[in-house]
Amino acid sequence: MQTLAYGFPKLGKQREFKRLLESFWKGGLSEEEFYQGIEDLKLKRAEVYQANVDLFPSNEVSLYDFILDTAIMVGAIPGRFQPYQGLKTYFEMAKGKQALELTKWFNTNYHYLVPEIEKLEFSLLENFPLKDFLFYQKHGIDTFPKFIGPFTFLKLAKLIKPSAEGIKVEKINEPKVFEEALERLNLVYQEVLKSLAKAGAKTVLIEEPGLVMDLEPWEWSLVKKSYEALSGDIDLWILTYYDSVSDYSSFIELPVKGLGMDLVSNQENLANLKVVGFPKDKVLIAGIINGRQVWKAKLEDKLREVENLLQFTQDLVIANSCPLFHLPVSLVGEDHLPAELTNKLSFAEEKLEELKLIKRGLEGDQEALNLIADIQRKVQISFGQKEEINKRVSQLTEEDFTRGIPYSERIKLQQKRLKLPLFPTTTIGSFPQTEEVRAARAKFNKGEISFEEYQRFIKQKIAEVIKLQEDLGLDVLVHGEFERTDMVEFFAQKLEGIATTKQGWVLSYGSRVYRPPIIFGDVWRKAPMTLEEINYAQSLTSKPVKGMLTGPVTILNWSFYREDLPKEQIAYQIALALLDEVKDLERAGIKIIQIDEPAFREGAPIKRKDWDQYFSWAIKAFRLCAKANPETQIHTHMCYSEFNEIISYIAQMDFDVISIEASRSKGEIIEAFETFPGWDRQVGLGVYDIHSPNLPTKEEMKEIVRRALRILPKELLWINPDCGLKTRRWEEVIPALRNLVEVAKELRQQF
Ligand code: GLN
Ligand code: ZN
Repeated sequence: MQTLAYGFPKLGKQREFKRLLESFWKGGLSEEEFYQGIEDLKLKRAEVYQANVDLFPSNEVSLYDFILDTAIMVGAIPGRFQPYQGLKTYFEMAKGKQALELTKWFNTNYHYLVPEIEKLEFSLLENFPLKDFLFYQKHGIDTFPKFIGPFTFLKLAKLIKPSAEGIKVEKINEPKVFEEALERLNLVYQEVLKSLAKAGAKTVLIEEPGLVMDLEPWEWSLVKKSYEALSGDIDLWILTYYDSVSDYSSFIELPVKGLGMDLVSNQENLANLKVVGFPKDKVLIAGIINGRQVWKAKLEDKLREVENLLQFTQDLVIANSCPLFHLPVSLVGEDHLPAELTNKLSFAEEKLEELKLIKRGLEGDQEALNLIADIQRKVQISFGQKEEINKRVSQLTEEDFTRGIPYSERIKLQQKRLKLPLFPTTTIGSFPQTEEVRAARAKFNKGEISFEEYQRFIKQKIAEVIKLQEDLGLDVLVHGEFERTDMVEFFAQKLEGIATTKQGWVLSYGSRVYRPPIIFGDVWRKAPMTLEEINYAQSLTSKPVKGMLTGPVTILNWSFYREDLPKEQIAYQIALALLDEVKDLERAGIKIIQIDEPAFREGAPIKRKDWDQYFSWAIKAFRLCAKANPETQIHTHMCYSEFNEIISYIAQMDFDVISIEASRSKGEIIEAFETFPGWDRQVGLGVYDIHSPNLPTKEEMKEIVRRALRILPKELLWINPDCGLKTRRWEEVIPALRNLVEVAKELRQQF
């Protein structure tokens, strides 16, 4: 038996990758220095692999995104980026003015660039896999070249079709078109494989996570055809992950040498393996170490699992269940965490050590067996327990998930209290986090200023932003969120049962990183979390100030979480803590509370059949914390555009107002409400695209409102930016909001 690992983070413990990339962009590094830095990083990374596992890939350190690399490899360069000029074009496509669209990678918080296919013509433009294989070879390191397979690439790509009404962008749904594209794409892949064989590579790893999606039978037959065309020169191992393969029998018949499956995300692959069996002539790459969560495995159980697997096939390779880049690099430096927690944790580097230990254990190495027993014992000790919380969750009844009276009645009470004009204006919560704000926080964290001084600084910022919003003439105000770094980490730091790390950075896209908190125990609220700031803000104005909370589903989806409790239970624990906050805010006289759920959609499982189950508890968790008094107006906020498919679930959340994206899609998103007859909730139109430095004109914003008015009655519409203003500059925000308020005023005149 051998061990394989893949997808180890490229970030570097000190975030070296981020620093290299950003200083290169700023002109602080020459192209040569930049490449040199990347090469050093690659070699350091390879050392970690070498120290722990038998087999590992090359071609993993993409300079921005591995899907972008694949697009460039096969020459899928949209006309607006032509002619291709190497690195310059590469970063244009990644982050230029007309960059490719960024979107979520499967059910993770990583974002990839969506390839655009203008012509069904491909050619080998950059042989990244060969280049990287040769780089390691030169340093005497043997690797398995790895890249995204042709099926998954096409599945994620978009076809650009000029038509009478303009350009149409869509997924490739036509079997004929898909087949033709795949055939042509395969010619490029064949060339790559040939070159790798010639360079001395023995085995290639082809990632096809697309095979875990809901697929039609015609798609599976195309996959088969595709691999018939590709196999020959070199051994192919296909890796799938994040879920079970959607057609096990078709999968194991693919004409390749090795088949990789995720045995962690659910039990389906394993169940199929047991019932259907596994072909004698193939290598099984068993993903048994969880690449998505930060927990050490129960290693004795894993050892037994491996022994079981060996009954199905002697050709066994054990691996991580999915790429490891969803995890922080290593536990080193996280010494502030309690020992009981550290004992249970395993980041990417520690995951490799687990694979190594299993192998040593299997070979009968006594020292390893002792360690395995010790780990198994430690990970089973649970801590962070709170009896009252469990009791509160177990005693929840239907009533806890239902607001006292229906929306049609609530709205009357709320209007009486709020007296808002037609087309009320508001913002989503955060205002610019300037250098000044970040410097004050850093000083406080380093102990250079006292808590009181920091608090005074935050209050001064709140006072400024309240005054500004009044001057601008906004109707519903916010306190600006200056005290928050990140909308999830802020609550994680305040809640019990959740730990935050010092250096647990994970790449979200490009050079963008975040630190997911770790939910390790029962979650509860020791003290009010937002009351002080919101109260202060409300004391300064007679206009309503929104209470600002991050929703339970988003806190859960953007954190690592314990596995000894169903996700549903964890969500209810968080929701109860938030409910206590809602009640405190109400008691303090806050009339509107916004509960943000930008990660509501993203937590949905890959396969549709699992959606009802997920949404049923996600909706309940939201409703649990949103059970405010009828006269309190509950807002929520989501900022992505794929709304159509989930609108029926969203409708069940029973909020009063939802603010959504509307500018990027030019108001197209509103059509989702058309497909949902009887939509009666208020909708905040995100008419100002905060992801762009451009100043939105009044006409552009009005056009979006007009489009919405074709579908929704005017009484339901609010006007706001499409997300928080945290990343923008004041010079951009002030004129944009001035325009936004004027648009609302002009519309009021008109109607
Ligand atoms: N209230 C948050 C903010 O304004 C919402 C952020 C988000 O949706 N990602 O920053
Ligand atoms: Zn948002």
